[in-house]
Amino acid sequence: MTNRRFCKVLVIVVIIASASFGVIDFGLAKSGAAAFGADNFLSSEFEYGGTRIEVSFIDGVPRIGKMAILDWVKRCAKAVDRYYGQMPVKRLRVKIQNTRGDEIGFSTTGIARGVSEIEVPVGIDIPKKCLDEDWVLTHEMVHLAFPIVAWKDRWLTEGMATYVEPIARLQIGNIDEKEVWADLIKNTPKGQARSENDPLKGSRRIDRIYWGGAIFCLVADVELRKRSKNKIGLQHILSYVARSGENIYSDDDPRDALLRASGSPELKASSDLLVKLYDQFSSGMVVPNLSALFDYLGVSGVRSSVVFDDRAPGAAIRKAINNNLASE
Ligand SMILES: [Zn+2]
Repeated sequence: MTNRRFCKVLVIVVIIASASFGVIDFGLAKSGAAAFGADNFLSSEFEYGGTRIEVSFIDGVPRIGKMAILDWVKRCAKAVDRYYGQMPVKRLRVKIQNTRGDEIGFSTTGIARGVSEIEVPVGIDIPKKCLDEDWVLTHEMVHLAFPIVAWKDRWLTEGMATYVEPIARLQIGNIDEKEVWADLIKNTPKGQARSENDPLKGSRRIDRIYWGGAIFCLVADVELRKRSKNKIGLQHILSYVARSGENIYSDDDPRDALLRASGSPELKASSDLLVKLYDQFSSGMVVPNLSALFDYLGVSGVRSSVVFDDRAPGAAIRKAINNNLASE
């Protein structure tokens, strides 16, 4: 867990990939793949949730085999599809860069040659357990659901990916709620402002960008649900934004993208609140009382000793966040 989240802030970035950046010539992949014998298919295409996903193997296929890699990609697509109610893009290229070792490395998401593309290095000796527990590819796929932003707004998209990824995986049964909330309790304090001159907008501090952005998402989720009597949360808004056509191909600025969620008066009121919070967090000095927030939600402790108090005033909100529920 510690290493997992430590790695996260070090290795994940979103880039605007161009034809000359991050794209490895397919011919090179063919020559590399031959070295790994039987399982030497170089690419596979399948459809998931109406999205055509091409998985290419660069410099060969990890020893675990092509099917295990494809199962992993499908599981991540399932998490994102379930969270947003649809896949964010109609076509996706996932480039598996075969590397030394047994881990998943520095990954990027962008657009290359007109197609959304995720490049993810996978160690040739990657074990199944590592694929089963992986968060990186889901994180990258979450980036597909929102426009690429200017660097000064990176806190928003990285915060979304950091916050959404574990919840999306929880909702398909890939992790449990203890892991989700233990991570939030442990890591969100790193994202708080350190001084009176430490706004999220334009921050270059990695913890501030990832976990400060995640704090915004958590606070927004709770406030949206409070305002709507637990009927509308962040997942509803982000799903609506995605269904309205916003994704990595869009060129709206983040504020305009968030304002897309105005399909009904109830949604519009929630969207207005979300944008108001965005403005406050972006340039203001919002320092939420995280201890009080977790107490309100009825969650305390660390790692496997996390406990839930269903008598807490916000326990129903916590459960609704876990399951994307609207309370009765
Ligand atoms: Zn990211």
